[in-house]
Parts: sequence; C-alpha cells; structure tokens
Amino acid sequence: MARKVLVLAEARDNSLRNVSFETISAGKTVAEGGEVVAVLLGDGVSSLATELFHYGADKVVTVEDEKLKTYTPDGYAQALLAVIDAESPEGLVIGHTALGKDLAPKIAGKLNSGLISDATDVEATGGNLVFTRPIYSGKAFEKKIITDGLIFATIRPNNIAPLAKDESRTGEVSSLSVDIKDLRTIVKEVVRKASEGVDLSEAKVVIAGGRGVKSEDGFEPLKELANVLGGAIGASRGACDAEYCDYSLQIGQTGKVVTPDLYIACGISGAIQHLAGMSNSKVIVAINKDPEANIFKVADYGIVGDLFEVVPLLTEEFKKL
Ligand code: FAD
Repeated sequence: MARKVLVLAEARDNSLRNVSFETISAGKTVAEGGEVVAVLLGDGVSSLATELFHYGADKVVTVEDEKLKTYTPDGYAQALLAVIDAESPEGLVIGHTALGKDLAPKIAGKLNSGLISDATDVEATGGNLVFTRPIYSGKAFEKKIITDGLIFATIRPNNIAPLAKDESRTGEVSSLSVDIKDLRTIVKEVVRKASEGVDLSEAKVVIAGGRGVKSEDGFEPLKELANVLGGAIGASRGACDAEYCDYSLQIGQTGKVVTPDLYIACGISGAIQHLAGMSNSKVIVAINKDPEANIFKVADYGIVGDLFEVVPLLTEEFKKL
C-alpha cells in the first residue's frame, strides 16, 4: 500500500546530519512505493535540499524563518505541524536524536497519534509494517505494528542504513511560509563545548574509557587510537564520576546510546547500565585486566590485558594499514 511519508531532516552548522539520510531510508520502507517528502526547518537551509534528493527524497518542503535558526520545541512543532497540515502524510519518521526525542512526543500529542519510539529497524512483511525496538535497556527487542492512524516512528541513529547516494536524483522543492509565534523559549546564544573530533552519537567507531584509565591523562592513548581510526571518544559513568572526562561522553542508560560499527571498551567492567548504551554496537572489542569482567559477555573480541600496553599496540598496528 503506497503511502505519502514525511521525514524530518536535521541540519547542524549548515550541513545535514547522517540521521537525515537514515530517516529517508526508513521513510522509503514505510512509504511502500509511495512518496517520501523530506522536511527542512531552519534559517537558510534550502540549499541542503539537493543532498536529500541524492539520498532518496522525492520532494523537499522547507520552512525558513529566523525563529527556526536554533531548535525550540514550540517553534519546530508549529512549523512541522503546518507541513503535516499542508501535506496530509500517512507516515512520519523522525530521528531518535536529542531533537527528535523532544519533538516527536509533542507532535504525537498535538495530533492525538500513537508513536513508536527508538526503532532500530522497520520492514514491510506479511502485509504489515513491523518496527523493531529495544526494551529492558537493550536486553530484548519487541516488534510493533500500527493498526490505524498516522504511522509515526522515531528511529535510532546508526541502525537503518541510508540508501546509496545517487547524484543524478533531483526533485521538487517547495517552501511553506509559517507564522511562528508565541514562542515560550527563545535561544539567545548557543555556547558549544569545544569538542575534539567526531560526533559521538554519529561515530562509526567509538573508543570508550572506564575507571580503568585511572586519570584524565589516561585517555590520551585512547585519543590516539581514535585519531587513527577516525573514531570518537566515549566513557563509562565510572570515568565521568571520577572526573577523568566530561559527562557529555557518558554512554549508557543515563548517557548516550551508541551503535557504531566498532566499539572498543577500555577498562570498563560492563555494568548493566553501561551495556544499555552500547550492546547493540555491531562489533564490540573489550580490553580489561580482569578475565571475569562482565564486558566480555557482550564482546565479540576480548583482550585480557593492561589497556596501557594493549591500546598503544593496537594504534601502532592500525597505523600500518
Ligand atoms: P568499574 O566498574 O570500576 O570498572 C573498571 C574496570 O577497569 C574493571 O573491570 C577493571 O578490571 C578494569 N581495569 C582497571 N585497570 C585496568 C587496566 N590498566 N587495563 C585494563 N582494564 C583495567 N554507568 C555507565 O557507564 N553509564 C550509565 O549510563 C550509567 N547509568 C547508571 C544509572 C544508574 C541508576 C546507576 C545506579 C548506575 C549507572 N551507571 C552507569 C554506573 C554503573 O553501574 C557502573 O558503576 C559504571 O558503569 C562503572 O564504570 P566502569 O566500568 O568504568 O568502572
């Protein structure tokens, strides 16, 4: 059954985040041969439409307003609801990002619709659209279908592969004018923490350190490995609590959820709360002195040893490739 599906594209610093292409890919499955309309909200973002076509969008709708320059729940909800009103989609897909986690329930509430959140997969099978989502902190997965109304889901970044880029694809861009008003929040300034290297939530490779790194300086060998592999640095709460690194790096139940292609856990015991944030990574390598450490239960490759010996050796070997 062909459907019209809206997907929300996310941009930061005038470039599209990967999750935008993943929402298009999920949107294609939901559309079942119908139309995928990507929505771009912001100020001066229309030029990004071209890339959305390359990744499979059939049409792009933009809402440009200086009040949409930075995300506010009110502003984005007004703009997106106006697009929904104008396009009357049967499906809506948003990334399960910081923005999406905030916006999606608000939209579902306003539309009086259901919402499948944090889906890691969607497939059209047996006449149904079946969404998969982790439950019990990733220890099990449930399958869900929506039987009526809007098919609305948020998708976990790094799980649904984008479609292959096709630079010959183009499409119609239409701009919608929306009177954004009565904002209860106004962002006056965004002060970003100086971040080194790759964005943790979108990284294909994550090198994470735990209390075993023993100090702030103990992260240095991990950073060198991350540089060689083009990866991002993450951490356990143990390392954050010990002030070896910033809480923005924390992975786990009360931190970020990551699903990179490669996760290297260094000096992390593997507490259940940490596993909740990384156990769905595609390949997990654990380096720990303790052969009984829980992290080895989820690891594809385990190295029993001192991280300060093993990590520099790995860095040297990867440099040779
Ligand atoms: P430890 O448990 O102390 O483990 C350190 C490991 O390093 C040990 O296994 C040790 O063998 C190894 N080691 C030491 N030296 C070396 C060396 N030189 N080389 C190799 N290995 C070495 N934790 C999270 O991570 N994320 C969360 O989101 C989170 N949320 C929580 C929420 C709640 C409500 C609660 C109660 C806890 C939460 N925790 C979370 C904390 C969690 O329970 C653990 O305390 C924490 O993950 C432990 O961090 P760690 O593995 O770095 O430290």
